[in-house]
Amino acid sequence: MNARTALVFFFLPALAPVISSSSRLAAQAIEQQHSFGYADFGAEARLEERFLAVPSAKLAGKELKILTAKPHLAATPEDHKTAEYVAEQFRAAGLETQIVPYRVLLNQPKVQRVEAWDEHGHLLMSGPTPEHIDGDPAPDNPRVVMPFNGSSASGDVTAEVVYANYGRLEDYNELADRHIDLRGKIVICRYGSNFRGVKVYLAEQRGAVGVILYSDPQDDGFAKGNVWPGGPWRPETAVQGGSVQYLFKYPGDPETPGVASTPSLPDSARMAHPDGPGGNEPRIVSIPLSYHDAAPILEALKGPRAPENWQGALPFHYHLGPGGVRVHLVSKQDYQRRIIWDVIGRIEGSQDPGSWVIVGNHRDAWVYGAVDPSSGTAAMLEAVHGVGALLRQGWRPRRTILFCSWDAEEEGLIGSTEWVEQQGRALDHAVAYFNVDVAVSGPDFSASAVPSLKKFVRGIARSVPSPLGGTVYMAWRSASPDKTKHRQANAPLAAGEEVSIGDLGSGSDFTPFLQHAGVPSTDIGSGGPYGVYHSAFDDFAWFVHNADGQFLYLQQMARVLGLEAIRMADADVLPYDYVAYAREIAAYLETARRRASDAGLGSLDFAPAEAAAARFAAAAQRAYTLESSPSGDLTRLNSALRQTETAFLSHSGLPNRPWYRHTIFAPGEVTGYAAVVIPGVNEAIDAQDRDLAARQLQVLTEAINRAASILESAQ
Ligand SMILES: [Zn+2]
Repeated sequence: MNARTALVFFFLPALAPVISSSSRLAAQAIEQQHSFGYADFGAEARLEERFLAVPSAKLAGKELKILTAKPHLAATPEDHKTAEYVAEQFRAAGLETQIVPYRVLLNQPKVQRVEAWDEHGHLLMSGPTPEHIDGDPAPDNPRVVMPFNGSSASGDVTAEVVYANYGRLEDYNELADRHIDLRGKIVICRYGSNFRGVKVYLAEQRGAVGVILYSDPQDDGFAKGNVWPGGPWRPETAVQGGSVQYLFKYPGDPETPGVASTPSLPDSARMAHPDGPGGNEPRIVSIPLSYHDAAPILEALKGPRAPENWQGALPFHYHLGPGGVRVHLVSKQDYQRRIIWDVIGRIEGSQDPGSWVIVGNHRDAWVYGAVDPSSGTAAMLEAVHGVGALLRQGWRPRRTILFCSWDAEEEGLIGSTEWVEQQGRALDHAVAYFNVDVAVSGPDFSASAVPSLKKFVRGIARSVPSPLGGTVYMAWRSASPDKTKHRQANAPLAAGEEVSIGDLGSGSDFTPFLQHAGVPSTDIGSGGPYGVYHSAFDDFAWFVHNADGQFLYLQQMARVLGLEAIRMADADVLPYDYVAYAREIAAYLETARRRASDAGLGSLDFAPAEAAAARFAAAAQRAYTLESSPSGDLTRLNSALRQTETAFLSHSGLPNRPWYRHTIFAPGEVTGYAAVVIPGVNEAIDAQDRDLAARQLQVLTEAINRAASILESAQ
């Protein structure tokens, strides 16, 4: 611990009296956020204090340096080395540790080529240009794999080009309104606003034969500020690689939806995969480019002038096409079943070993992955370091804690999904999944969570010191809301709530836990200007110069993550706030009813769903009273509290995507990252499908009634 944080840390105990003198009621509310679920929080508070003293900024920095020493794409020897390193750290802390392999379908690029000619046949560009800048040698390492799209098809196409802005549904609709036909065309989209797989999916549906994804300097380059190595933003040749898997259909190994791809799973149990895509993969080619390579294509493009808000920061007028330029895309992807490695470290619970608290972070990176994901891995390792110290002092958690280092997240949440699919019903007793992916790219804390854990996350943030002084919560509250607006919340804050917590969509490993298995989940991070996402420039030097030079935010995130695990593992009563959940469900229904009426589906009957939500709210209120002062045998109450979340799963899953079973949260089919709430109902309304909306309202009503009846059984 360095001097600056030591000061902050010992200042903390003084905070409570300062606050209570200004407002006793507020202090009680704050106190309750700490101690919710505990009959007597005193012993826990002392334990937490001992934990918070251990995670070290210096060690986190050292761990980050080791993890980012080499590119470690999933399924490579360097990735295996990081698995061994993490396993070693887990064992040193006293965790019972296993490296768990899976055999999954992954592509790696053999050949990728892009050439463009103007209408006179003059060559405009040929690439991709290797990622390079003077001043940072890391991208020049021969082990850096050329930037590519996970799950891209192989192909060789030559076609005219159309510019589709961010490749959102509304962008494609705009092109359709202007009668610009995408059949047989190559679509060029800029990154941002939605998940890249959605951009490709919508292009494929409209008959495009290929997609170029590029980073416009308006979104994360020179228009934002100084580019690396002078600042945090994306330099000219930097490419955002990334998966284009259709993970909104299902994530994980393309060949085994719902089934774990263990090494012994026979090939006959995997989906037929003749020469390319599985059920969640595109059938068309896509290639990611830097703006250095995309600019000549966009500049030569003719056709109508692009709408004003489609104009990026390149110094010419953007046009929609087609015309003016022809592009040749070649993509040869080497698809093979490859071995990946999760690392699972276990601390057996002393009283309720069958109940699991799971902490997870992915370890694989597109290249060096200093921010994504190694900042998360370093934070998790320091959380483990802290928990290890408690173990040596004789502490045992009441419930079992698992620390998990996932592999192949970048290709489509593969390591976590296969592990979840392997656990099956054992996860009915997993009481929480705490995710961290990008732990640190700057100082702005933010979080997403199921509604029942939003209060819990706020309570944790109030208990951890911030490098800025005060607590993480205080820094979070005083940060401007646009710093955390990427965490989209679908219901307004309740009276007295100060910080917004987002809803869980997708884009990281909480998806299989929450949306397939029904495990209450959270996701946390600390953000800042970050222009090198998924490029070879996301390296240790960038991190030190731009994100967290003294590793104090790594230390902060280690404390937050570790405290989530400890407080959840030891609670007398599971600290789920179903009153908040009920309030959010009611808000979602109200919004959906309005959207239905706007869509001309005003006759849809929301009354049964609203009645179920009211019943759920009443049960939640009574459960909350029991949770606030736990006493007697709490087994039944805990079991009911846990099974309430599972009750939101529907057996048949969402229409056309049965792997997604949660009736309240799913990744949007046209957003990918952002959550769509009560997805069955809302997506049917979007499709203006009255029958489907009515059926999905019924499925939702049954789920809410199921949850209400389980919660009632606790009383
Ligand atoms: Zn990541």
